[in-house]
Amino acid sequence: MFMESRIKLKKYMICAIIMLTFSMIFAGCAPQSQTSTNEPTDEMKNVSAEDSLKLLEEGNARFVSAETTTKDISEAKREDLSVAGQFPFAVIVSCSDSRVPPMLIFDQGLGDLFEIRVAGNVIDPVSLGSIEYAVEHLGSPLVVVMGHEKCGAVKATQEGGEAPGSIGSIVEKIKPAVEKVKASGVAEDQVYEKAIDENIKNAIAEIEKSPIVEELVASGKLKVVGAKYDLDTGKVEFLSE
Ligand SMILES: [Zn+2]
Repeated sequence: MFMESRIKLKKYMICAIIMLTFSMIFAGCAPQSQTSTNEPTDEMKNVSAEDSLKLLEEGNARFVSAETTTKDISEAKREDLSVAGQFPFAVIVSCSDSRVPPMLIFDQGLGDLFEIRVAGNVIDPVSLGSIEYAVEHLGSPLVVVMGHEKCGAVKATQEGGEAPGSIGSIVEKIKPAVEKVKASGVAEDQVYEKAIDENIKNAIAEIEKSPIVEELVASGKLKVVGAKYDLDTGKVEFLSE
């Protein structure tokens, strides 16, 4: 009889410990879900083009030195972005080249960058519409057109020849840059890299033709800049006007 009541007491104690442990776990979780707000903070909403550029430069410096930060890919983070929506602080127009992924290059995480990637970082109505959506609807203060060293799309355009399927539509977009550089009389071995730079400028010019972009730039709410990625060093050089 005595043994039986001791066993019962033991069972009660085990149950109590389990319940206490669970309540502590849940109590520990509660403050986290309360602090994880679903509203964009003022900090998120008031990022200027200069702030945005600084964040990209700092992120790229971390990437170059291989000291990238650990990204929050938790369920809570995904839920926040799902409920509150996205507030990307920069729009990055870059080449589809697998060696040029903006999120990695700028050491950013979920919800930070609005990326438009297309071979040769060219602008067409669909990519322009995507940019307009990001700057007008999501309030991104900075558009970066990022070309890169040794871009295959520019190389193919420079070399000419057959462009099967729809590849010709990319070549047609890049052609004016190559032709302009060739006509400028630069040395033949410089045409390739200079055409890449020129192609970046052309993309910026096309973006700035958008009345939505034009208005935001005029009101000081938006900047459009060019940049070039170095495949070997990993460094992004922001181009001056
Ligand atoms: Zn490329």
